[in-house]
Amino acid sequence: MKRIAILLSLAVLFGCNSNPNRELGRYKMDQEYLVASTLWYQYSPEAKALYYQGFNIAKERVLEYNRVPGDKPKAVVVDIDETMVDNSLYQGHMIETGIGFTPETWKAWTDSAMAKALPGAVEFTHFCDSLGVEVLYLSNRTVHEMEATMKNMQALDFAFIRPQNMFFKDSISGKEPRRRMVSQQYEIVLLLGDNLSDFAEIFENRGDDWGESLVEQQKEKFGKRFIIFPNPMYGDWEKNVYDKQKQLTNQQKFEKRREKVLSF
Ligand SMILES: [Mg+2]
Repeated sequence: MKRIAILLSLAVLFGCNSNPNRELGRYKMDQEYLVASTLWYQYSPEAKALYYQGFNIAKERVLEYNRVPGDKPKAVVVDIDETMVDNSLYQGHMIETGIGFTPETWKAWTDSAMAKALPGAVEFTHFCDSLGVEVLYLSNRTVHEMEATMKNMQALDFAFIRPQNMFFKDSISGKEPRRRMVSQQYEIVLLLGDNLSDFAEIFENRGDDWGESLVEQQKEKFGKRFIIFPNPMYGDWEKNVYDKQKQLTNQQKFEKRREKVLSF
């Protein structure tokens, strides 16, 4: 019953933002392009295997780095969304209603505490715990979303779900100041994320080549210090699809997407 109530409130929120003057069928098509990536993420065993692969490599690295003595306690910094938990049902609502991301619908989604754990994620946190390595959750969910997020992740049995391990977004969305703050207290041995900016500041400005040369520059770190998970649904990579223009209409976005696939 609770689940139905939450889904209804999400539907109402999405519904409130809809434009009644617009023909429903056409409006819904605006998020239709997300169907394949969302289905792949939700149902393909390949996606699940990639999560297991990432967490398996992460466990090996934690074991290896934990053997090296250091002055500070060791920690793994993890992103939350599409790294530890799956929000693809929120994407499903976007597709269903034709309305893109808004902070209001996102807040309703995080309040619902309905995100699912990704394969291998919960176990990884307990593995770190068994070695005495701390897991720190560095997320761009806002501080107002922390309580519901903790409730959600506690119910999923993640380890280290307590306020002092949560580093959520206050005013600055860039993660570097929070990483610096964390490294005063801990030695960060590993970073896990689905978006390049989860790893290092240099990825925050990708440039016109979509960040390709930055990845080239940092290629030795993937699988060593940076563990990346697949997220075909959204991410900073999308900014280059739209030539970093923020105020495009849905029609203009549609055209940019078409232009890009053909100019590859
Ligand atoms: Mg993420």
